[in-house]
Amino acid sequence: MAVYNLLRVEDRLYIHLGADEHDPVYQLAYDGLPNRIEIGEAEVVGTVEMSPEQLEKIRAEYENGGECGWCGEIAAKLRHPHLYDFAPGEKMCKSCWNHDRGVYLGSYGDDIGPYDESDDSKQCVVCRQFREGKKLVTLDNGDPECEECAQHMNDARP
Ligand SMILES: [Zn+2]
Ligand SMILES: [Zn+2]
Repeated sequence: MAVYNLLRVEDRLYIHLGADEHDPVYQLAYDGLPNRIEIGEAEVVGTVEMSPEQLEKIRAEYENGGECGWCGEIAAKLRHPHLYDFAPGEKMCKSCWNHDRGVYLGSYGDDIGPYDESDDSKQCVVCRQFREGKKLVTLDNGDPECEECAQHMNDARP
């Protein structure tokens, strides 16, 4: 078991994994996502023990994920952008990919395809946006509808 400090920085908790080798200004500070932060004032509030398997999982998130070059959100997984929005060196998160997928399919009739091999996203039949499977409901006729549209429908009902 390896032991890491649990830090509190500006009222948020992070597992401190050490400095970022690529950019020592930043510290690898895991908060459920592969975050990198600059630490000024930090308080050590405890320690956490992690098994090699747990560490490996987090290490993979730092390797495959990070900050999306489009929306700036931290994601556990990023991928190279699609050809319509190619920016060398930048990587894209699933939610930006799904947004673009709806836009390019709607505007050009061209589907850039699923985010990855395990992507279960489908196009909402109402707003035509692509959403992850967990954010979709299935209508009586089998069509997928996103949670937001389903909510609007419910609100509109008398
Ligand atoms: Zn994004
Ligand atoms: Zn929708």
